Amino acid sequence: VTRCDSRRGEMVLSLPPWLCALVQQEDRVFASTESRLRFAIDLARRNVEHRTGGPFGAAVFEAASGTLVSAGVNLVEASCCSLAHAEMLAIGLAQQALGSYDLSAAGNYELATSVEPCAMCLGAIPWSGLQRVVCGAYGADAAAIGFDEGAKPADWVGALQKRGIEVVRDQQRDEARAVLQQYAAIGGLIYNPGQKP
Ligand SMILES: [Zn+2]
Repeated sequence: VTRCDSRRGEMVLSLPPWLCALVQQEDRVFASTESRLRFAIDLARRNVEHRTGGPFGAAVFEAASGTLVSAGVNLVEASCCSLAHAEMLAIGLAQQALGSYDLSAAGNYELATSVEPCAMCLGAIPWSGLQRVVCGAYGADAAAIGFDEGAKPADWVGALQKRGIEVVRDQQRDEARAVLQQYAAIGGLIYNPGQKP
């Protein structure tokens, strides 16, 4: 994984090779919401199994067709960057692929994420132009293995919906939670604010 090189004035976040190979396959169309979320959870599982990062996966799809636009996994430890959450990577890669910092200007796009967004990713969603977010495990499930999801409004779903962003929760929770537990079981790093690595 390439690290950011501040001397060159560049910020580089590179997906692991297994994920690059996966997204480069053509015709990745996921017709149903269920299949899109299953793909995001599968990314999280593979990230744990390849030991390339934390137990989180996310992907952006064109909402009507289900065409995969981008995918991300948690790369915080490997890329030495606290911004490298699965959702942030998926959003940033989608925007660069579509040539627009506002996805809503390019069409109707949705994010599937294996676990509900943390405070950072929640903040990024309204700025991204995403129009729908589909979540697997609860934030509380990530907290149960020690991850801090940060300060989120109690009614974060309502806050997104007020901005016209549809939120679908509590889908395939058991499958997504199993990946979190798998990561904890292999002794994966649980990093948190204020905790020295
Ligand atoms: Zn996050």
